[in-house]
Amino acid sequence: MRIAVVGSGVIGLLTAVECVRATGVSQVDLVDAGPIPSPTATSHDRLRVVRALHRGEPALTFAAAGAHTGWLEVESLVGSRFYHPVGALTAMPQQDLSAALTLLTAIGARAWALSPTELAARYPKIRFPEGSGAVLEATAGVVLADQALAAVAHWLGTRPQVRLHPHRRVVDVTNEGVHFDDGTSLSADRVVVAAGPWSRALVPPTIADELTLWRQSLLSYRPDGWAGLPAVLGLGPAKDAWMMPKPAHSDAPLRLSAASACRPVDEMTDRTTPARWREHLERLFAEVLPDFDPAAVIGCVDGYYLADRTNDGPLLLSNGAVWTYAACGGMSFKFAPQIARTIADHALGRTPRPSGIAAIDTPRIISGTAPVRAGKE
Ligand SMILES: Cc1cc2nc3c(=O)[nH]c(=O)nc-3n(C[C@H](O)[C@H](O)[C@H](O)COP(=O)(O)OP(=O)(O)OC[C@H]3O[C@@H](n4cnc5c(N)ncnc54)[C@H](O)[C@@H]3O)c2cc1C
Repeated sequence: MRIAVVGSGVIGLLTAVECVRATGVSQVDLVDAGPIPSPTATSHDRLRVVRALHRGEPALTFAAAGAHTGWLEVESLVGSRFYHPVGALTAMPQQDLSAALTLLTAIGARAWALSPTELAARYPKIRFPEGSGAVLEATAGVVLADQALAAVAHWLGTRPQVRLHPHRRVVDVTNEGVHFDDGTSLSADRVVVAAGPWSRALVPPTIADELTLWRQSLLSYRPDGWAGLPAVLGLGPAKDAWMMPKPAHSDAPLRLSAASACRPVDEMTDRTTPARWREHLERLFAEVLPDFDPAAVIGCVDGYYLADRTNDGPLLLSNGAVWTYAACGGMSFKFAPQIARTIADHALGRTPRPSGIAAIDTPRIISGTAPVRAGKE
């Protein structure tokens, strides 16, 4: 069987890996409009957080129980280290600690609660919301995302059955393969489309209309002496601000953002943060970090992702021959090893190993036989 995978973000790369490892696959063609991996992909960033706790969402927490082991398996396959178990600290009202801990204990995660006094003593550089305690997940951590993508792309490039096609833009997808903007095409028995926030151009217009494009701003912050922190969530007056840590031995800056810096937009334009969104984050983190130093903000950048309007998360759709990860949602990086395995199983006609994410395990079937034509946005 010949498989074509469109997109070399984290989902396309890991789906290609799964196809290479499957029996009966003679050829895997991995295509991207940019280089492989592409620095403009949503996945291409310094860090992505991997944590299990989804407060009040047991199904997602159970799914996330396997996220960090998924990444450890990818590390071991490609022979490179990019997962750092720096931990994740989620601030919450003290009365919610026990429910969160029960959820994490049920999935076998190593976690414990910290009282407001313990929090203040342990993390004096952070001002937690009044009366907040926190749950610390020890096995949570961060993936050095750009390093992971490069290592996986390199591994794929050394497999005899893989052909990499950088700088090839797909304009149409049919049951027989993919068509490029230069008029050429590539045939395949199955096609997987994982085009991240660009997917709207490769799905039928009715599906594209059901997707929300989100744009999020992040500050890069490099103060002195902040190594060794976990990822921290639940900060600020709205408890929606978070910090991605700087793992020891990494030159990555801290990344600071908040749900309030994420807004729906009509189109993907540039990645330069408009002044008002940078100022919004600087004001917010001046409240969260008592010693916040604006001079230590070394940059601000915007990223995009698509979400299905019905669940504000991912969407997988298929007509049997073409499998399109039409919306990646805001959490696909950490779940990528699980999502890719399930997508590959679906596409190869194997009994799918469940990812635990409903939208992936039960894809939307759009038609039994009709080809998926490119939508005109
Ligand atoms: C600011 C921000 C912070 C985030 N933080 C986290 C986090 O901490 N943890 C987490 O789990 N998730 C996080 N996410 C979400 C996560 O990064 C994404 O869900 C994930 O990276 C999407 O990967 P993907 O492979 O689906 O898409 P992408 O990484 O965007 O890859 C798509 C690829 O398809 C290619 N492509 C597009 N169109 C075409 C075409 N027509 N022809 C050929 N190639 C094409 C592109 O060039 C690109 O390389 C965050 C997202 C943002 C924006």
